[in-house]
Amino acid sequence: MSTQTRTRPVNLILLGPPGAGKGTQARMLEERFGLVQLSTGDLLRDAVAKGTAAGKSAKAVMEAGDLVSDEIVIAILSDRLDQPDITKGTILDGFPRTEAQAAALDDLLAKCGQKIDAAISLEVEDEAMVARVAGRYTCAGCGEGYHDDFKRPAKAGVCDKCGGTEFKRRADDTAETVRTRLAAYHDQTAPLIAYYDARGALTRVPAMGDIDRIAASLGKIVAGVTDR
Ligand code: ADP
Ligand code: ADP
Ligand code: ZN
Repeated sequence: MSTQTRTRPVNLILLGPPGAGKGTQARMLEERFGLVQLSTGDLLRDAVAKGTAAGKSAKAVMEAGDLVSDEIVIAILSDRLDQPDITKGTILDGFPRTEAQAAALDDLLAKCGQKIDAAISLEVEDEAMVARVAGRYTCAGCGEGYHDDFKRPAKAGVCDKCGGTEFKRRADDTAETVRTRLAAYHDQTAPLIAYYDARGALTRVPAMGDIDRIAASLGKIVAGVTDR
């Protein structure tokens, strides 16, 4: 075992289309490694709920399944990166989604002597994503993710994590919107796979099948970059 302790925070990216399991896996890695999950989708939904200026301009775009402007998303992410709770590092879930966002992220991290340690592409089949997204719901209390068929709470109607009994579904998780979101992924986000591959930071992980098995594959990659 290494006696060295890491001083620089680690930064990981989870890439994958809607429904690939980014949020599910990010939460598991957060618990296991003490990293902070940064989901721009969650940050944008907060902004919409609070009715901020960014939230107001993002709302209709998100409901249609298109990408929110780079300017808005980069500003929201940059504010979040400045928060003091990030000590061991981050798991970026849903950011970057365009080459402009990836370049902005490189600049933001470079300013504080950091970098992307690994970009992990969750490799899934598009056709399966419609059912994953359409059956998705989360605990209103703690945010734990569930699925009507693939990830049910142990006791029906009760959250495994917090015991809460209220759940919610996203307005954009409809079969029609998923098609637009998959197209946005392939047009604008999938090119980032080559972007990170070109600098030797990319790992592809098969992500159809058992959630715990996928978590074990990701755990090995993260352990490799966090010196555990
Ligand atoms: P993303 O954040 O990439 O959009 P989520 O993590 O929210 O995806 O997962 C989408 C839905 O699919 C959720 O309801 C989740 O419970 C479920 N899910 C996640 N991983 C798997 C998997 N490996 N097999 C089946 N269902 C999964
Ligand atoms: P999913 O993982 O299921 O695609 P997210 O919660 O990551 O969903 O994103 C939901 C919506 O929020 C996206 O369809 C898009 O409108 C917006 N969004 C989230 N992150 C970004 C981003 N990095 N750039 C542009 N739009 C984003
Ligand atoms: Zn809960």
